[in-house]
Parts: sequence; structure tokens; C-alpha cells
Amino acid sequence: MNTRHTEDEQIPTCPRCHSAEVTPILYGLPSGEGFAMAERGEVMLGGCVIDASSPKWACKSCGESFGQRLTHEMWEALRGARDS
Ligand SMILES: [Zn+2]
Repeated sequence: MNTRHTEDEQIPTCPRCHSAEVTPILYGLPSGEGFAMAERGEVMLGGCVIDASSPKWACKSCGESFGQRLTHEMWEALRGARDS
């Protein structure tokens, strides 16, 4: 079994308008390539700060952002696990 990651799996459709024009949101300071991808519409730039409400996906059709929102408790647990 090969579990390698593939680029085109698991990209959801928009829960609001059901468009397939959904891109991942890139967090952190983007590289030159990150900016180029954003200009091509391949990713959305989410800024340098990721927090508990940061969504994973953005819809290019309606602007909705969604997915993988952590609850505050989940986020604290993750941070606690990482710090200890
Ligand atoms: Zn949408």
C-alpha cells in the first residue's frame, strides 16, 4: 500500500454555492512561488497568523471560506500537546 499524498484528492466543493472552484488557503509568509500561485488563483493567501477559526479552503465563486475549523478546546489541546 502506498499512502503518498496526491494533489487533487480531497478538495471539497463549496458548501454554500456548490462550486468546484475551491482553493486551499496558504498560511504563513508565502514564498515567491506562493505569491505566483496566488496570482494564478491556485491558492488563497490567508496571512501570517493561523488561529482556531482559520479555515482551510476558500471558494473563488462566492468568497466563502470553510473547512477544518477547530473548536477552541481542540486548538488548546493541540497547542498543549505541542508545547509539552
Ligand atoms: Zn462558494
